[in-house]
Amino acid sequence: MTKIKVFDVRVDEQAALQQWIERHADEVEVVLTEDSLEGKHLEQLADIDGVSISQTTHFNPEYFQVLAQNGIHHIAQRSAGFDMYDLPAANEAGIKISNVPSYSPQSIAEFAVTRTLALVRHTHRIDRNVALQDFTWDLAVQGRTIESLKIGVLGTGRIGSRVAKIFHGFGAQVYAYDIAPNSELEGILTYVDSLEELVKDIDVLTLHIPGSPENKYLVNEAVLNQAKAGLLVVNTARGIVLDTEALIRKLDDKTIAGAAIDTYENEGPYFKNDWTNKPLEDPVLSHLLERDDVIISPHVAFYTDEAVQNLVDIPLDEVLSYIKNQTAEHIVNP
Ligand code: NAD
Repeated sequence: MTKIKVFDVRVDEQAALQQWIERHADEVEVVLTEDSLEGKHLEQLADIDGVSISQTTHFNPEYFQVLAQNGIHHIAQRSAGFDMYDLPAANEAGIKISNVPSYSPQSIAEFAVTRTLALVRHTHRIDRNVALQDFTWDLAVQGRTIESLKIGVLGTGRIGSRVAKIFHGFGAQVYAYDIAPNSELEGILTYVDSLEELVKDIDVLTLHIPGSPENKYLVNEAVLNQAKAGLLVVNTARGIVLDTEALIRKLDDKTIAGAAIDTYENEGPYFKNDWTNKPLEDPVLSHLLERDDVIISPHVAFYTDEAVQNLVDIPLDEVLSYIKNQTAEHIVNP
């Protein structure tokens, strides 16, 4: 029987893993471990046919040779990111790596809209007031309707296109900028020719471009200087695409009325970790948390049952495909 070992298993993956295991019980034995592929596990690969990993830090390139020596020529990473792998070293050892490029664009799109609604209707302020038994109405919690707003979508790929469709459904006017416009979105949104043009006359800017080196600080002070006063900024893309300190300056001078941050450029040590009662050593993050006009979430836009299911099913299917056919759909070093 084929034997697969799944490393770095998290509690939230267990249910989805058990379902996959049950579906393949007649052909595959699956060994689960919370450990990473290192140490003693490198010596226990002789009877293993395929592996799935959820590596978050640098993967030691020497381990590629160990896998190859054990007849394993493929790693199925359970995330979209694969920058933790040294691809030339993987190629040298004959190891293919697959990822999960898209696990639930709808989840991220819906969260971007959720956070926009929170900013527009001030739900964070209302919740905070009510928790203090302050039931008053005042201007700080007076909202607007989404259908009255002009929404700007930066990047209309898998996620941005869905965001545009949802806002279109609300009756909002949707504008977008993308270096590769999608003609299928005609009727849903209106493309403009630059980011500077996009920010000039919109109420909400929602970011959906990749965090590539070219896109570092694409949304910077010069861009934000062009914005219509009162702009709301929503970042569920990658922290690096938004210059956080420039954002803070524009919040201070009231050009920007509010921001929802799901991804932060220096989130590494903090997001996904319990930092309760521990001092934050990042003064910018501390400042953002104290602000009344900023709402923060810890890179959870994707985090739904559907996304976790896909993050398990797609890589395990890839492991099986590679074992059977020496190929998989999402190889990043073909
Ligand atoms: P995608 O590749 O499908 O779409 C990206 C779009 O951006 C493309 O249409 C591309 O042409 C456009 N683009 C790229 N550079 C641009 C630029 N400089 N100016 C204008 N347009 C540009 O990507 P996606 O799957 O929709 O992902 C969008 C973002 O969401 C990525 O940053 C991704 O990392 C992020 N993401 C966040 C979470 C989360 O939980 N917060 C989860 C998954 C993905």
